[in-house]
Amino acid sequence: MRFRRLVLTGFKSFVEPAELRIEPGLTGVVGPNGCGKSNLLEALRWVMGEGSPKSLRGGGMEDVIFAGTASRPARDFAEVSLLIDRGPEGESEVTRRIERGAGSAYRIDGRDVRQKDVALLFADAATGAHSPALVSQGRIGAMIAARPAERRQMLEEAAGIAGLHVRRKDAETKLRATEANLQRLDELLGDQE
Ligand code: ATP
Repeated sequence: MRFRRLVLTGFKSFVEPAELRIEPGLTGVVGPNGCGKSNLLEALRWVMGEGSPKSLRGGGMEDVIFAGTASRPARDFAEVSLLIDRGPEGESEVTRRIERGAGSAYRIDGRDVRQKDVALLFADAATGAHSPALVSQGRIGAMIAARPAERRQMLEEAAGIAGLHVRRKDAETKLRATEANLQRLDELLGDQE
């Protein structure tokens, strides 16, 4: 999977629509302190399904919406779209939007999807909101100080098998529901005999 283009609207300091094209090779983002370089990386993590406002340097998820300045009013929504190249499966656009008081909504190629679908799409490609490939400030220290279980999680994310845990949990839930149904069926059959 390759990231092709990131489009931000109303996300943190990006009040006007901004587009970052990610061409093959190295892409560098340079600018003075506080111009929004880290916000770009956070937008990338956010559109991939980040659920923790703390890891986006916010108190609540709505903190990602442009909060206004002395000269510009706050926005009511933030939206980030990421165009990805999925190899033989072609290109897809993943979009996340948050509106004040309405929470987040996700789309893949214009279709409404769940956060889980987006997280799985990226996890299967060994990337995602918690990918060790995204190294934000302070992350190196956190990796060094990580407990073995946390380090294992990082390795699983890097290996692209993190999505299997989600699928296993889903399968176990379905299995338990089926077992309960079978037991109920046995009881009903027993009642009829
Ligand atoms: P540095 O080089 O110092 O790490 P940076 O270029 O990475 O800086 P960021 O940390 O990405 O900069 O951006 C910080 C800026 O984003 C601050 O000016 C902050 O006020 C602004 N900002 C963050 N959240 C919002 C928001 N919700 N609304 C408006 N502006 C915001």
